[in-house]
Amino acid sequence: MKNYELKMDRYQEEGKEKYLDNYIFEAENHIMNNYDEVMKSSKATCMYCGYSFNPNEFSATIECIPDRDGNKTIHCPNCYCDAILGDKSGYPVTDIYFIARCTRLWFNGYSRLDYIGFSNERIKWVKIEVD
Ligand SMILES: [Zn+2]
Repeated sequence: MKNYELKMDRYQEEGKEKYLDNYIFEAENHIMNNYDEVMKSSKATCMYCGYSFNPNEFSATIECIPDRDGNKTIHCPNCYCDAILGDKSGYPVTDIYFIARCTRLWFNGYSRLDYIGFSNERIKWVKIEVD
C-alpha cells in the first residue's frame, strides 16, 4: 500500500467515473504508429510529462523514428517519450482528468507528471561521456 502522495492523485481519483479503465487503455492504441494522426492534430499532449503542444509548430524538428516496417511514432519534444496523443484521435487530450488517468494507468505512478506535476520548465538535456 502506498504511503506517499503522487501529484495527479486528486485528478486521477476524480476522473475515475468519467473515464473508465477500458477507455484509457483503448486510447493507448493511438500512441504508436501515430505520425499522421498527430500531425493532423492542432493539439497534442504527452501523457508521460504533460507537455502540450501544436504539432505543426514542431513539424521540422519533431522526433520521429520509423520502426522496421516504416511506421512512424511521434516522440515528445520535451521528454522524448512515445506517449503522445493528438486531438485527431478523438480523445480529450487537454482534459486534466483524462491526462491524469492516462499517466497513472499507462505508467503505474512512474511518470514525470505523477512525480513533479505540470511544469512549464522544459527538460534540459545534457550529454555525458561514459568510459
Ligand atoms: Zn513528454
